[in-house]
Formats: sequence, C-alpha cells, structure tokens
Amino acid sequence: MTDTELKNLLAERIAAVRRRIAAACARVGRDPATVTLIAVTKTVSVRVATLAWELGVGDLGENRPQELWRKAAAIPGANWHLIGHLQRNKLDRTVPLVQRIHSVDSQRLLMALDTFGCKRGTPVPVLIEVNCSGEATKGGFAPAEVPAVCDTARTLTGVEIRGLMTMAAYEPDPQATRPTFVMLRELRDTLRRRTGWPLAELSMGMSNDFEVAVEEGATFVRLGTTLFENLGAE
Ligand SMILES: *Cc1c(COP(=O)(O)O)cnc(C)c1O
Repeated sequence: MTDTELKNLLAERIAAVRRRIAAACARVGRDPATVTLIAVTKTVSVRVATLAWELGVGDLGENRPQELWRKAAAIPGANWHLIGHLQRNKLDRTVPLVQRIHSVDSQRLLMALDTFGCKRGTPVPVLIEVNCSGEATKGGFAPAEVPAVCDTARTLTGVEIRGLMTMAAYEPDPQATRPTFVMLRELRDTLRRRTGWPLAELSMGMSNDFEVAVEEGATFVRLGTTLFENLGAE
C-alpha cells in the first residue's frame, strides 16, 4: 500500500468510527464531545500509529508498557493511555508518559502508584479495572472488591481514582454486552455515593461493542481492530 492509500483508508475508518460514536450519542441524548476515542496501536507499526495521530486522533493506547515507551518516544505529542497490566518495576518509567493508567488491577499497584504520586507531589490519575464478566483470562478486581479498594484509596494522597474500566466478554451479538456496561456504570454510581468523588470516567467499549458502551455512558472507547485491521504490523 502506498502512503497515500494508507492515509486515505485510515482517514475513512476514523471518520466512520466518529460517525458511529456520534450516532450512538444521538440515540441517548449525549454530546459526542464527552466520548474520547483512544486508538489502540498495539498491533500496528510506529508508522501507522503516527498516521492515526496526524489524522487527528489525539489519544493513543497500548497494553504493554515497553511498547508504550517505544511508541511514545516516537509520538510524544499524543495523549498516551496504558490499558494493560503494569508491573511495579515499570511504573516509574511509564507514569510520566501517560495521561491515564486504565488498568489498576491490584492493591499493591495502587499503593505503588500512591508512593510515586506522593514523591512527585501530584497525584497519579487512574482508573480501576473491573472484571465484570468473571472470565479467568481477564484482569481486574471482582465488582465486590472495588468498594474496599476505594476505601483504601481514601487514605492516599498520591493517587486519584477518576473512574472505572472494563473489558466485556466477546459476544457475536454486541447487544449481549450491554449488561456488562450497565454493571460498570451502576457500580460507579454506588461508589460515587460511598466516596463523594466525581468518578466521571468510564473506559469501556472495544471494536465489537463500542456503540453499546457509548449508549451506556462510556467516556473512553478503546478501538484497535476496527481502525487498524490489516494495516501494517511490524
Ligand atoms: C486490544 C485492546 C483493545 C482494543 O480491542 P479491539 O477489539 O481490537 O478494538 C481495547 N482494550 C484493551 C484493554 C485491549 O487490550
């Protein structure tokens, strides 16, 4: 594929996704500006990731810290999001590069992020990853564990919990993912009452199910396949 062909194809996919987000917002009376599209670049080259950013996708996500370091060095102007597991020994190098850690999946990681935030003097903004579907292959806290995580976080000044993140189980019919997204939003509402925090952010929705997630209140959607399928892995 030539550069121009690649650019035109990617531009069309980005436009199609933005139209679908806008249509989902319109169905439930939301302002599309409240939904941030994160292009998940884990399957593509730096060249393709750069192109997405040049085409106006300001937020990029990676699920592996080392891959995020590499691509963030090449595209420092993007808002980077870590959406996968963060090992504590990679925390110091990762946190300064990202706008949000979506994937706090243990109390130990929360405590380590708190230590980092206290040392630098500004809290680290994070989302708590929740395993709503109960699948053993997925990371995150069980929904019933999250209130205790928030109780711990109330005593910490180095982290700020901005909301929740989840991955729905794959469903051939995307409508079948709706209960997962409703569960995350209702958990957020419960935690809001318990803590008094805004908890404004819900990171939910992937290529297969993002329109349903937007209808149920997603503020971040994380899209890989629908943008990047067959576009130049490294
Ligand atoms: C890969 C990944 C995505 C993107 O998934 P697609 O189905 O390719 O859109 C979203 N979130 C997380 C946590 C991921 O690892």
